[in-house]
Amino acid sequence: MAMGWNFPGIAPKFHPVFPAFPRCQNANLSMPTIVLPFDNSYARDLAGFYEPCQPAAVRSPVLLFFNRGLAEELGLGLAGQDDEALAAMFSGNALPVGAQPIAQAYAGHQFGQFNPQLGDGRALLIGEVVDRHGRRRDLAFKGSGRTPFSRRGDGKAAVGPMLREVLIGEAMQALGIPTTRALAVVSTGEPVFRERTLPGAILTRVAASHLRVGTFQFFAAHTSPEMVRQLADYAIARHYPELLEADNRYLAFLAAVAERQAALIAQWMHVGFIHGVMNTDNMGIPGETIDYGPCAFMEAYDPGAVFSSIDEMGRYAYGEQPGIARWNLARLAETLLPLIDADEGHAISLATEVIDAFPERYRHHWLARLRLKLGLRGQVPSLGQSSDSMDTALGESWLDLLHAQQVDFTLAWRRLADAAAGNEAPLRALFLGQPGLDRWLQRWRERCIAEDAAEDAGTEVNAARAEAMRRVNPWLIPRNHRVEEALAAASNEGDLGPFEQLLNALWRPFDEGPALARYAEPATGEFMAEFRTFCGT
Ligand code: AMP
Ligand code: MG
Repeated sequence: MAMGWNFPGIAPKFHPVFPAFPRCQNANLSMPTIVLPFDNSYARDLAGFYEPCQPAAVRSPVLLFFNRGLAEELGLGLAGQDDEALAAMFSGNALPVGAQPIAQAYAGHQFGQFNPQLGDGRALLIGEVVDRHGRRRDLAFKGSGRTPFSRRGDGKAAVGPMLREVLIGEAMQALGIPTTRALAVVSTGEPVFRERTLPGAILTRVAASHLRVGTFQFFAAHTSPEMVRQLADYAIARHYPELLEADNRYLAFLAAVAERQAALIAQWMHVGFIHGVMNTDNMGIPGETIDYGPCAFMEAYDPGAVFSSIDEMGRYAYGEQPGIARWNLARLAETLLPLIDADEGHAISLATEVIDAFPERYRHHWLARLRLKLGLRGQVPSLGQSSDSMDTALGESWLDLLHAQQVDFTLAWRRLADAAAGNEAPLRALFLGQPGLDRWLQRWRERCIAEDAAEDAGTEVNAARAEAMRRVNPWLIPRNHRVEEALAAASNEGDLGPFEQLLNALWRPFDEGPALARYAEPATGEFMAEFRTFCGT
């Protein structure tokens, strides 16, 4: 695992100056009509951790996207509503009955620098619902106008970046990766001023919660440990209730958050996802991918891949992500020290143990998924532990091959599934030279045969292996050129067709077929050489 960034030890930091939040300026003109089944625990239980704030009214809301499947899962009862009513509600012009809009306070390390006050500068938590599976989920607006935390920003968002969040977030969901989701996007009919004038939009985001590492940092930096304890107890009850009875529940909480991040980042790495801005305010406590700004999917395999226009040093490059997750978790640990043990030295040593275990936990999750991607069912029993290091080496040499020949990451894995079924030609076509590939395929086949022999796997084993591989190695990812094409049509011409077609394809990423072939094609080398992502502010 890359560990390029210096790893500062855990150090206690408390500056008990609690800033009074400025007040929200927006007037509430809304005429609520729709009733939603809200139950707003954050607003109820965490007074002092947020500031109430109304969304700004918008000129002429139009519904661009509505996620009916998700609305159904959330039990919102919106099936009978027309687009106009939905646009009024999801723009904030007609907030649903029961909504309790608040701007949450948080801080964060941005590119390694601590910013003691960030907060919801262009987002509002509207309320919480308990979905059909009994899971509590936040409904939040993004782009709904200025809040007490806007600093110099306008609180707005543009159509392109909000539809981009829909595409990438829904693709992640379909790939089986924990993520916040998009419920609706409404265009506002108002301009947003960036490098050029863009059409404005508001996204409604659904999240397990919007608690971040940065939320803990805010209250650790500004308030007493008692408020951090209140926050931690809330987070534990909401996301890690199994820890309520734990011996040292705050240490257990740190370990549990780390465990979910280890699993999450391993999943990112196996689909070539680059978050792009892994600041501590963008790392969620529930373990979901959150904040789709300058993120992108890698095409040709390259551990140094970075697309964000502002990430000049490559701090958040593809291969740095596990190390950055660990760095961020150390910042979370700092906020919890006074809760972990009254003796600070002891608290630091306990927390350090958890943080130092992270690389191993990450590798554990990475290896488990690697095996699935390689079509392996598990360890070779006779080899035990050494099967782990052999399989890790097998995976790493495959990645080295892809890197050396700049092979498309997604297609290489997918074509390996064909090779498992006996059809090697499509895989070979992706590689320039063959000797390295031949040697690697030989090793891989021997490994498969060893497993099959040990398990007496039967005659259909190759077909079964290929099928299993096709269920974990996607055919479709959101290809950067297709995403850009769809967003340009929506943003510049008001044509949502390409966006909708792409989204429909991304909802079924494992189903290969000729009708959708254009979405599987990698971008040209020239496109990728020039391709940059932006923070969407
Ligand atoms: P992000 O880079 O999106 O994670 O945002 C970092 C911080 O900047 C958060 O506190 C955001 O609320 C704030 N922010 C981003 N864009 C805007 C905007 N247009 N207006 C006000 N605040 C913003
Ligand atoms: Mg953010």
